Amino acid sequence: MAELALSKSVKELNFSVIREMSLLASGYEGVINLGIGEPDFVTPAEIIEKAFADVRDGHTHYTASQGDPQLLKKLAKKISLDNHLTISSENILITHGGMGALAAALRCTIDPGEQALVLEPHFPDYAAHIKLAGGVAVGVSSCFEEGFVPRPEVIAEAITPLTKVIILNSPNNPTGGVLQGGILDRIAEIAVNNDLIVISDEVYDEIVFSHPFESISTREGMAERTLVIKSFSKSYAMTGWRVGYCYGPQALIKEMIKVVNYSTACVSSIGQRAALAALEIDPLIVSRMREKYVERASLVCEQINSFPGIRALEPKGSFYVFVDISGITGDSRKFALDLLEQARVVVVPGYAFGKSGEGCIRIACTKDEGILSEALNRLKEYLETLQKVAVSK
Ligand code: PLP
Repeated sequence: MAELALSKSVKELNFSVIREMSLLASGYEGVINLGIGEPDFVTPAEIIEKAFADVRDGHTHYTASQGDPQLLKKLAKKISLDNHLTISSENILITHGGMGALAAALRCTIDPGEQALVLEPHFPDYAAHIKLAGGVAVGVSSCFEEGFVPRPEVIAEAITPLTKVIILNSPNNPTGGVLQGGILDRIAEIAVNNDLIVISDEVYDEIVFSHPFESISTREGMAERTLVIKSFSKSYAMTGWRVGYCYGPQALIKEMIKVVNYSTACVSSIGQRAALAALEIDPLIVSRMREKYVERASLVCEQINSFPGIRALEPKGSFYVFVDISGITGDSRKFALDLLEQARVVVVPGYAFGKSGEGCIRIACTKDEGILSEALNRLKEYLETLQKVAVSK
């Protein structure tokens, strides 16, 4: 039989490097997986109990494509309070995780051939969703020395007549960077001056270590051009429930509802009831998880910065530590594969996050301190072996 004539745009996509690393790890015994970015905590019991009670009460049907009306109403109240603005249910859409929002947003904002700016290093899925929408992802570079904070002038230089969208991610996966203050003002100015739509991925907004979280959507002139993406996955340890949401201009939300309608009808009613329950739990439960991430990140950074040849960027949020290994090698894939093979530790090679990520690795602090310490010991031993080999040459 002749080769199946499958869609070029999908065939051209690479499989996720993050998933690939975990798949490779499954072939080894005794691996510590610091690759996948998902909380190790179990979903808080209050959420599980309430969701199951709602299922028994009959919440087992399709909901409106836009979402469960009670959840929409509750979110409208929360978003308005948190951001000192007035948002109504018409501005909100419940999605299949933050990813569902990303996919629908890019479908609705990008036409074939148009460009979206992605600030490197970036969550790899952005480039995939842009491509699936027929668009072109244009990377904006940044560097370790500057904490991977993007330079406004570099962003401005990357804009062409075909640029429609800029995607921001704060707190950032993979760097743990947080955009705040002046840099947000400058990016907002660039977006307004160039009439760009901003997709602000804020799925780690509850995992900010010191300053209160700031969203670009609150900057002057931004509410009408920003789609904010949030998720229950990371803040409430609810990755498997697959619930996220987004809010922004009603005109955009209206189009995005069509995409959800035709692709999945709606988000699982059970997941949505769990999300509603999550909004009612004691905020202390969320802050305890955040405190754990702070402790873990500081343990990892302190240790890494005492190891030879590598250095860690102190994260300001999320649960990732981005580590510069360029003093040892510029080939992050080989480093990650050798580390798995020889030390049984999974990390994600930085090239997966765009060109600026090469020469780095991402460590997810999603294991308890004991396991993280064991992984760090293995990494240290691996680095010492490399040093011995280098000396003997
Ligand atoms: N955005 C970023 C930056 C992420 O890291 C992730 C998941 O890792 C997502 C969005 C999507 O998460 P979910 O679909 O589970 O909400």
